[in-house]
Amino acid sequence: MSASSTDPIIAIATAPGRGGIGVIRVSGPDLSAWAEALCGQALRARHAHYLPFRNQQGETLDEGLALFFPGPHSYTGEDVLELQGHGGPAVLRRVLEDCLARGAAIGLRLAQPGEFTQRAFLNERLDLAQAEAVADLIEASSTAAARSAMASLSGAFSAEIDALSERIVQLRMLVEATLDFPEEEIDFLEKYQAAERLDAVTATLDGVLRTARQGLVLREGLHVVLAGQPNVGKSSLLNALAGEDVAIVTPIAGTTRDRVIQQIHIEGIPLHIVDTAGLRETEDTVERIGIERSWAEIARAQVILHLQDARHPDDPLDAEIVRRLPAGTPVLRVLNKMDLLDAAAPAPAPAPCGLSMVKKAGPTAAAPAPMPDPGLGSGLAVDETLQISARTGVGLDTLRARLLRIAGWTPGAESPWLARERHVRALEDARAHLALAREHAAHSDQVLDLFAEELRLAHESLCEITGQFTSDDLLGVIFSSFCIGK
Ligand code: GDP
Repeated sequence: MSASSTDPIIAIATAPGRGGIGVIRVSGPDLSAWAEALCGQALRARHAHYLPFRNQQGETLDEGLALFFPGPHSYTGEDVLELQGHGGPAVLRRVLEDCLARGAAIGLRLAQPGEFTQRAFLNERLDLAQAEAVADLIEASSTAAARSAMASLSGAFSAEIDALSERIVQLRMLVEATLDFPEEEIDFLEKYQAAERLDAVTATLDGVLRTARQGLVLREGLHVVLAGQPNVGKSSLLNALAGEDVAIVTPIAGTTRDRVIQQIHIEGIPLHIVDTAGLRETEDTVERIGIERSWAEIARAQVILHLQDARHPDDPLDAEIVRRLPAGTPVLRVLNKMDLLDAAAPAPAPAPCGLSMVKKAGPTAAAPAPMPDPGLGSGLAVDETLQISARTGVGLDTLRARLLRIAGWTPGAESPWLARERHVRALEDARAHLALAREHAAHSDQVLDLFAEELRLAHESLCEITGQFTSDDLLGVIFSSFCIGK
């Protein structure tokens, strides 16, 4: 890290705008004398001191609480001073500017985004996965995501990774020791049941990977695109799923000329649903641009809902749309306006005993055929037809359940820790190295040093998650996405 990573830093830690309380946070290796001078009194460690915040000229800028946390028992592991005053932008800025002026002598500067947490990581107060969980907890958009981020922050995810690493390290130690005694190489694998141990570690890693994928879904959500001809009910479906009017619904074809994105939650999973302009041939330039954008959205989708009017399930234009849908993206064919179909059905004949049997559009009418559970990333395209009515709500529960399943979410699954793309990738890398190690073990002329090398690489991949082997570049990317003051 650069030399500046030990400069004292300062930031307003509370969100911009007005609030009941505003917090200014300062962190540095040795702040006690400076903090005492700033506050005009000695500060007892971890005690709240109520006092006026005066500037250098003696003017009272605000009044509030000062708290001093001497390092290493602080958030950053350094000395930390917190000033809790009134949460107005102007008053906070005045206090901040005064602190900066009075901190010039000790090199005090404004903190960069995430710099407090970066210091906590560098001073080993948190590992990297925990540090990321801090940002994820702040960003969490649902209760489930917040709960899982907290689990990661408290170290549940890191503990799983550390336990896996430990088992790989033990296996490595055995191999490395054997490498020093070449005459023992031959029966090493049998003697230490290396293949069995490797299989057991791999099975555990597979479990962690499955949970991490769930955690990734919970964090990132699913990018769902509504596609179909004009007027089939795409905007109505978006509104029905969102539970509020976000898209304009009219009976005039071609109303949605640009995309509308709405984030909804199903069981805490964020779904980013994109409503697109209806796909049709058109002379209207503006509408044509909208349609081009629709195809661009469809190309980026993780799931496509191809909406059709249930009254015209075999429309040739829909066959044309299907032909153009990207291969490899799961597509759910959704027949909408089932209520109209039911209404148009011939009146049922009166049943014996004066009872009449009325065909009801209920969950059974919308129940789709069972389908295999492909999960995202499995490379399988779903081809399933669902029957719904955006107007009456029939079939929407089934649709929601299907979307969750495609996202890879197991309903009722134990709340996982929140995971990031880079965690899943590192776990997959580790998995691939273990598989290669297994191949070397199975080979008749077992090559122990290749076996050892794959174990080393698997271990290294796992360590990337908690930050034991991490480049400064990666740290820069991770911490720069934090908010200022965290
Ligand atoms: P879009 O162009 O595909 O976005 O379609 P809209 O959502 O704007 O809907 C077009 C028309 O169909 C509107 O008049 C809606 O009220 C109507 N509509 C949408 N869904 C249903 C449904 O499930 N049943 C019935 N009866 N009408 C619907």
